[in-house]
Amino acid sequence: EPERRGWLDKLRQGLRRTGSGIAQVFTGTQIDDALYEELESALLMADAGVQATQFLLDDLKRRVKEAKATEPAAVKALLADAVAELLRPLQRPLRVGEHTPTVIMVVGVNGAGKTTSIGKLTRHLAEAEQKVLLAAADTFRAAAREQLLVWADRNRVEIVSQEGGDPAAVTYDAVVAGKARGCDVVIADTAGRLTTQAHLMEELKKIRRTIAKAQDGAPHEVLLVVDGNTGQNALSQVQAFDAALGLTGVIITKLDGTAKGGVLAALALWGRQRAQPLPVYFIGVGEKLEDLQTFDAREFAQALLG
Ligand code: GDP
Repeated sequence: EPERRGWLDKLRQGLRRTGSGIAQVFTGTQIDDALYEELESALLMADAGVQATQFLLDDLKRRVKEAKATEPAAVKALLADAVAELLRPLQRPLRVGEHTPTVIMVVGVNGAGKTTSIGKLTRHLAEAEQKVLLAAADTFRAAAREQLLVWADRNRVEIVSQEGGDPAAVTYDAVVAGKARGCDVVIADTAGRLTTQAHLMEELKKIRRTIAKAQDGAPHEVLLVVDGNTGQNALSQVQAFDAALGLTGVIITKLDGTAKGGVLAALALWGRQRAQPLPVYFIGVGEKLEDLQTFDAREFAQALLG
């Protein structure tokens, strides 16, 4: 699988460039308090947040005791296990095909990579022989609409868009058209910035209600696209959008850049307090079509630990 290996390399390079220094912690010869203190700093530097850092340290100490580990290298392997186990509930495939169409509403602040991720997701679904229809409901930004038209063209899928139209009306038309045309998936792009955050959330809630009116039980997915570079702020974004809209999943982009990756640990720990952890359906590791990859907890843990 050369493509998948290439992706892991990009992820590893992205995480390495941050100099999170987790691997560095295990270059000594002893397992002592200093090692755990260094690890604590490294995890905090990697944006894991205070709670997830503490959770991982406690879990790791338990594992070290149980395994009677005596070498830092062994502790590192146990940390990889601890991270993979913490992240595993985030690993869940996006399911389509249970509804005709499955309606996916995609939200996120401008610049997070929403439109690009929709383009990549469209290709992913089109390759799986799914008939996709796009809804350009970010009618506030002409550039967003044009970008989505390009993605639709590239993937040869249909698109409902209307210059300067009402976002909820465009989305409604798209879902109705998707039903009428026997589409498998309708993906709605939405605005990422209005005059205030409250105004944006009201607009998105309205779109959500409109989708429900067009099709019972829809939207089936409300996905938040988050820029992996925003660190701890990524978690606050997830929480704010979840409180307003009830998210069903997350896409984390730009993990090939200077992202630190620890934010997934923070997300996972928060997920334990939520009724259900929010899955990370995909991660973005570049700007190309093939750069949207399904999230794998074990692979991610290994990339994170260098
Ligand atoms: P939107 O405003 O949320 O729709 O964001 P866009 O989809 O327009 O993306 C903003 C910028 O981020 C563009 O230059 C994209 O090419 C870039 N981008 C999106 N996803 C990724 C990713 O995973 N990695 C990298 N390096 N760039 C990305």
